[in-house]
Amino acid sequence: MKAIEFLTVDKQFLDGDTTIEALKPTNFSVEKGQFVAVIGPSGSGKSTFLTLAGGLQTPTNGEVKINDEAFSQESEKQRSKIRFAEIGFILQASNLVPFLTVEKQLYLVDKVQKEKANVDKVNELLTQLGIEHLKKKYPDEISGGERQRVAIARALYNDPSIILADEPTASLDSDRAFEVVKILAKETKEKNKATIMVTHDQRLIDYCDEVFIMKDGVLEKQTS
Ligand code: ADP
Ligand code: MG
Repeated sequence: MKAIEFLTVDKQFLDGDTTIEALKPTNFSVEKGQFVAVIGPSGSGKSTFLTLAGGLQTPTNGEVKINDEAFSQESEKQRSKIRFAEIGFILQASNLVPFLTVEKQLYLVDKVQKEKANVDKVNELLTQLGIEHLKKKYPDEISGGERQRVAIARALYNDPSIILADEPTASLDSDRAFEVVKILAKETKEKNKATIMVTHDQRLIDYCDEVFIMKDGVLEKQTS
């Protein structure tokens, strides 16, 4: 099943009297169980592509579908609902809640969903990411790289069917970056998720099933 599908999607921004074509007309799809990387230089349109996939913004033309159903053409409210149920976002700025400890950043998701906290799942994720010992710390007591890993744990905790990660390893050292990519690959395969990871780190793409290159708003599948 196609988890995400772009049907001739483009995105334009007006800058004074010039039009910026951040994403040129694009057809794309990712299946469940597939781990896709998008690489490309800064300003090439990667974040635009990812936020369109997650419905944080809507196309100028074309349509984005999720699980073979309408998404970009739904109302803002309906999009949020689908996003909340299906998508785990890992953004570069980790956006943690300053007055909650690391473990409570994860339980926050339960509060919203009115479900019981899954202590085992929290412990497992924090251990996998090497931050189990930081459970009781607040965001301003841990490093940038550690905060990034908390944000990753929070995105995975909800068990979304789609993971969208925008440079998730940007503030991590090499070992941690590989760890994170391995976790994303494992989640994708074992739980049949669809994952798109934007990165400019060539070393990380060995773990991905397909690699796309973004250049000047044009998304192209990498061959070889
Ligand atoms: P990347 O993530 O690859 O660095 P972006 O998708 O952020 O690239 O940006 C692609 C292009 O679109 C850039 O030229 C950027 O300046 C422009 N752009 C992105 N978002 C906006 C916006 N909200 N308003 C105007 N221009 C934008
Ligand atoms: Mg970006």
